[in-house]
Amino acid sequence: MTNTELSHSGETAADALVGHTSGADWLARYSTSLMGVFGTPQRVLVRGAGCLVWDADGKEYLDLLGGIAVNALGHAHPFVTSVIASQLSTLGHVSNFFTSPTQVALAEKLLALTQAPTGSKVFFANSGTEAVEAALKLARRNNAGPQGAPRSKIIALEGAFHGRTMGALALTAKEAYREPFQPLPGGVVHIPFDDIEALRAAVDTSTAAVFLEPIQGEAGVRPLSAEYLQAARQLTADAGALLILDEVQTGIGRTGTWLACEDAGIVPDAITLAKGLGGGFPIGALLTFGAEVSSLLTAGQHGTTFGGNPVATAAALATLHTIENQHVLAHVLTVGEHLRAGLVAVTGVTEVRGRGLLIGFDLDADVAPAVVQAGLAAGFIVNSPGPHTIRLAPPLVLTTAQADTFLAALPAILQTAKESQ
Ligand SMILES: *Cc1c(COP(=O)(O)O)cnc(C)c1O
Repeated sequence: MTNTELSHSGETAADALVGHTSGADWLARYSTSLMGVFGTPQRVLVRGAGCLVWDADGKEYLDLLGGIAVNALGHAHPFVTSVIASQLSTLGHVSNFFTSPTQVALAEKLLALTQAPTGSKVFFANSGTEAVEAALKLARRNNAGPQGAPRSKIIALEGAFHGRTMGALALTAKEAYREPFQPLPGGVVHIPFDDIEALRAAVDTSTAAVFLEPIQGEAGVRPLSAEYLQAARQLTADAGALLILDEVQTGIGRTGTWLACEDAGIVPDAITLAKGLGGGFPIGALLTFGAEVSSLLTAGQHGTTFGGNPVATAAALATLHTIENQHVLAHVLTVGEHLRAGLVAVTGVTEVRGRGLLIGFDLDADVAPAVVQAGLAAGFIVNSPGPHTIRLAPPLVLTTAQADTFLAALPAILQTAKESQ
């Protein structure tokens, strides 16, 4: 055990409030008090340090999901937690009648890291779906086509996941998520994934915006080609439509660059960020590139109570500072390559996708949920976004040695999963 792990092993103030009991007891109480939208949680987690977490029964896990691409620097990162604690004990919330130094500094930092052109701006929210809602309202403001004709069409992709609130849900493709909540905000069409001709046919002067994830995370880590992103940039620019990239999952170093779209060499009109941005603390952001797009939403047209509060923005500043100063991006590329090369060599793995530390791999049988269970039993947290697909989105600070423990254990995990069918 490292010093960091030891220093976090004590009882928390919240532990004293809620008491101790077994995982089974917490889960029984969960099922009688929590709404059933998430099904039954896999484990009750009580503590984390770096890439490790522990459950209520004391079992240790290597966290290869990182709270779904959220815990960018792992759990209980000493610098991030100390910045959060010191900000919270100085000034925690001020309302948007006021601003605070961390809010301004974070906006400046994000614009600098993304090499945003002059006139670019930031809006802060508290989650991914809220960042997408802001982007959707931005798209609605791009409403005047040639000769005053309306722009009412918004384009998204088959397989897209943009969040669960009503606006973001209208962009999300999955029928099972959408159908119970019809009617959704209108005007959204879904077109085939990575199909340039389908995009060319869909984008016209009635199009307000095209929403794309550079890599579809929830759909099983499916990357759009650089050619597609470049074509999308050209087609939207020609038609006067906005190109909005949802980098909620892919941004903040997840793919080894600050933004996943950097590889394609394009500048979108706007991007959404959230998951990794606060290093585990809730925060979302909409970045608009250039003065024209940045002035589409004017005073009074959007708002939030908590968005951009001093604590969340301090957490994000600490996260970005650490990623930058500890050379985390280069590390992500190295460990990601290592993991993918190792996965390709495992019997039963048929395809490996993704960049940096957003990795999806397919199996030769529909056993992914059983692999998640067998992984937990063996002390590894992974995720199954589809029946034969496993997703890894570990903390960006995962070491090569930690990755190797998973690669070594995977054949037996796959074996156990297949036997359990
Ligand atoms: C997770 C995710 C969202 C939604 O974020 P929440 O914080 O869960 O609301 C939106 N877009 C993408 C690409 C995501 O991965």
